[in-house]
Amino acid sequence: MKECLFCGIVEKKQKARIILEDEVAVAFEDIHPQAPVHVLLIPRKHIGSLNEAQGMDREVLGHLLLMAAKVAEMKQVHRGGYRLVINTNSQAGQTVFHLHVHLLGGRTMTWPPG
Ligand code: AMP
Ligand code: ZN
Repeated sequence: MKECLFCGIVEKKQKARIILEDEVAVAFEDIHPQAPVHVLLIPRKHIGSLNEAQGMDREVLGHLLLMAAKVAEMKQVHRGGYRLVINTNSQAGQTVFHLHVHLLGGRTMTWPPG
């Protein structure tokens, strides 16, 4: 496997502003925020994209969503609202191939997304 940026964050070899972490996942500030709140949530386990997720990753995937809700509350965007995004492959704009959930909040979102 090629060097993975987000595995580097999990292993603390790559600097990141970590907000919350536990035995399954790590949440940190996106380096190029697209909203006042822009957090990335990643599994500690390397999964390249949602396409590579297997049945045995069910708990990890659920864990990411529950952790996102916790971070939304920590960031006080849970009442106003927030958006979770998982870009998968190039047409969706995925640039880092370690599965991640974007948590965006703190401003009004438009629909449909660009
Ligand atoms: P995606 O385009 O869905 O693959 O999202 C990748 C995200 O990772 C982008 O929003 C980038 O701004 C963010 N990103 C890239 N490198 C870093 C880094 N070193 N620390 C934090 N966020 C990063
Ligand atoms: Zn990785």
